[in-house]
Amino acid sequence: MAPIDPHLFVIFGATGDLTKRKLLPALYHLMQEAGVAEQCYILGVARSEWSDDDFRAEARDALADEELGHWCDEHLFYQSIGSNSQRYDALRDRVEALEAAHDLPGNRVFYLSLPPAVYGDTVEAIGEVGLNASDGWTRVVIEKPFGHDLASAQQLNERIHRHFSEDEIYRIDHYLGKETVQNLLAFRFGNAIFESLWNRDRIERVEVTVAEPLGVGTRAGYYDDAGHLRDMVQNHLTQLFTLVAMEPPATFGADAIRGEKVKVLRATRAIDKSQVVFGQYDAGTVADEEVPAYRAEDGVPDDSDTETFVALPLYVDNWRWQGVPFYLRTGKRLPEKRTQIAVHFRCAPVSIFETETGGACDVNPNVLVITLQPNEGFDLHFEVKKPGDGMQLATQRLDFRYKDAFGPIPDAYSTLIRDIITGDQTLFVHSDEVEASWRLYTPLLAADLPVHTYPAGSWGPEAVAQLLPRWTNGAVPASEGAAA
Ligand code: NDP
Repeated sequence: MAPIDPHLFVIFGATGDLTKRKLLPALYHLMQEAGVAEQCYILGVARSEWSDDDFRAEARDALADEELGHWCDEHLFYQSIGSNSQRYDALRDRVEALEAAHDLPGNRVFYLSLPPAVYGDTVEAIGEVGLNASDGWTRVVIEKPFGHDLASAQQLNERIHRHFSEDEIYRIDHYLGKETVQNLLAFRFGNAIFESLWNRDRIERVEVTVAEPLGVGTRAGYYDDAGHLRDMVQNHLTQLFTLVAMEPPATFGADAIRGEKVKVLRATRAIDKSQVVFGQYDAGTVADEEVPAYRAEDGVPDDSDTETFVALPLYVDNWRWQGVPFYLRTGKRLPEKRTQIAVHFRCAPVSIFETETGGACDVNPNVLVITLQPNEGFDLHFEVKKPGDGMQLATQRLDFRYKDAFGPIPDAYSTLIRDIITGDQTLFVHSDEVEASWRLYTPLLAADLPVHTYPAGSWGPEAVAQLLPRWTNGAVPASEGAAA
């Protein structure tokens, strides 16, 4: 493990949901590793007039650990920036006082767990009071979403770059912190047998599916404005796509990997709008429960035409992938929770097996299924002979499940926070990458595409089958493994 320097971890938005549910547990988890707890002090910041004790009480509540009292009292602090975010001078004084009291050398993380609309102002306020200049290193972490289209992402990059250099900026896409996503790199570049198959000669199509049974929940205010293309496709699904499609990097270093991902996006053809399917869920049944239509959800206007489902093909115009569709599909109120990449190999060129009636026997193509959730692992579908007379084939699976081999997998935020405090940018999104991704999707935002309805609990609108007929209807079955 890379050594951890003594530092102050400043969380903007410390009274919010992400801090309580993800950041504090991840930090606490890290603190339990030898040598880390003494190095990290946490300063929560928000507009609410909380005291240190209020913040510590929230942390105890979030972490539900009896042993915590001592750690909280010594390591957690809180500073209000006032109801109009006007007290940045007081924040700077508090940061300096904490550093002096705990003998910290000026290493600072500024984690912006804030509404996206205030990312730019917050970074500027940090810069204006000089918090970004210290005797140690400084790093700024920006949560998703980064911009809401190409122009806003470029503008935000410009504002942040006025105060932080690119190697100090950590743009989060928490999918990249998931072990299985990182294992895609190990799988592709640590196993030579796959590399020779990983191209247009052997692969017929790739399907990336991120399905969730949940509806909009309590996020209607943000979600109805953003829509599913911005919320899921521009970031998470595009990350999965680039990791599958990228060329082998020269090293396992941040610049090499991020550079290859950007090249994929730059080689990706402009999306054909006539092949894009937007959907919105209607009332239906999910997991035996009747659920309302999107438009009937709390906080959603009853004439909303926001998409809750997106399906589209991407094509990479390079030597490796020319002509191979990468189908991205994601939606709310689909039948199950599943994040999956299914690599469909080409069929055997001829079938030499005959059925009892003398016709050619169907041979199913091999499929490699990479499951990110639930129950992370890999499955390789292959054909075997059914025992008995005649030559009948059946599809079987070779499977590997992470938790059977390694036990529970760490939460993505633990991985990402460790990388932030050790200064490893490999799993964070570069400014070139975020802009290249927005360049791809921004034309769709302006296109006023039709939004088809689909019953909650189905795999999306019927238009998907018409527009993208080669696509599997639903997730590819994966083995759930004995421990599922
Ligand atoms: P919340 O609304 O729960 O919290 C927002 C925080 O920001 C609060 O601490 C709030 O505190 C503070 N805040 C609100 N308005 C302002 C303002 N104008 N100036 C300064 N501070 C402000 O949001 P979440 O915690 O859910 O999300 C935070 C960020 O993380 C968002 O960008 C979100 O997209 C992203 N994210 C969240 C996930 C989650 O699971 N929650 C998952 C992935 C990303 P106060 O009012 O006291 O200032």
